[in-house]
Amino acid sequence: MKRVVTNSSIGSNGGNGSTDAQAFADPSFSSAVILWQKQHGRHALPWQQTRDAYRVWLSEIMLQQTQVAAVIPYYQRFLSSFPDVQSLAAAPSEEVMAHWSGLGYYTRARNLHRCAQRVVAEHGGIFPRDPELLQELPGIGRSTAAAIAAFSYGVQAAILDGNVKRVFARVFGIDGYPGAKPIEDAMWRRAVALLPEQGVESYTQGLMDLGATLCTRSKPSCGTCPLAQRCVALATDRVGQLPVRKPKKAIPEKHTGMLVIVDRHQVLLEQRPDSGIWGGLLSLPEIAPGADFEATLSRATAALGVVASCEPLQPFTHVFTHFKLQISPFQIALERRLEGIAQANYVWYPAEKLADAPLPAPVKKLLLEVFREADLFA
Ligand code: SF4
Repeated sequence: MKRVVTNSSIGSNGGNGSTDAQAFADPSFSSAVILWQKQHGRHALPWQQTRDAYRVWLSEIMLQQTQVAAVIPYYQRFLSSFPDVQSLAAAPSEEVMAHWSGLGYYTRARNLHRCAQRVVAEHGGIFPRDPELLQELPGIGRSTAAAIAAFSYGVQAAILDGNVKRVFARVFGIDGYPGAKPIEDAMWRRAVALLPEQGVESYTQGLMDLGATLCTRSKPSCGTCPLAQRCVALATDRVGQLPVRKPKKAIPEKHTGMLVIVDRHQVLLEQRPDSGIWGGLLSLPEIAPGADFEATLSRATAALGVVASCEPLQPFTHVFTHFKLQISPFQIALERRLEGIAQANYVWYPAEKLADAPLPAPVKKLLLEVFREADLFA
């Protein structure tokens, strides 16, 4: 069996190919997978009875993001309507889409049709055996190209789908999210280095079967796993933690200054616009982040009267669904209040009504604390 050495299998090594090949190579790994596949793997799936690249390709595309049980009836219906790549290429797109209807991820169906047309137009109706050429066709990524080449032509090419990433992450104790480029690149190098000299079909099918039937996302069957003796996750009690999940995005933070302007038993509140956060509620006047605090404060208070004191209060954080709001409150006491407020959307609000006021919860909590501590309730 001839090994097709592809650019992707060399290039992804980034110049460390021989080092990785030595570090990751382990013939006993593929032997264990092959032996297990022959004894316990899946052998009766409809697409396993053939080396016809058209049928292998069709099954591989359908199996992307879809369970085997759901794929089988679609696969069989497709084959009875489109028995070869020529009939699929010649079919009207509505007919292809109708046959796909219900399988989901419809981009796959559009790519499938385009791919069939290109195989007919550019490759004489024969799927290429070189994974690099297969990857140039619509809807065929590196792992799918390798699976088609391995199952149809016995080419030694490495697969690395989600199931295989999970098996590798656990067996080799790989810390780091497999979707992150450096982790994924390292996994590809390992996948290439682990390829067996013989039996790539059983090995490839074995990796797929292990991921689908034993090393499942939750409750893997470690007790019957052929890789249990070498599984780092099992030995270190990290099966539940590996593979590392996608890191959550940090919630963005916003900042605001809130003015608690108090005159005897009243506080100045502002009516918020109907849209946006806390839309339509009363709240405290705010100083926009980045604004000149002193200048803004003196402008705001000039309309109100003579300021007796301005004290920073304990900052706090309020968490919304999509961001955190860091609030820096300031308590301002007025010595003498001017009657009338320039803007109509401000109101002097009596302290004794604050508990029932239409205020955002964190603002209400702040105000009740301020009034209670200063004993300003009437
Ligand atoms: S021992 Fe368990 S966790 Fe490790 S590869 Fe096997 S099934 Fe997966």
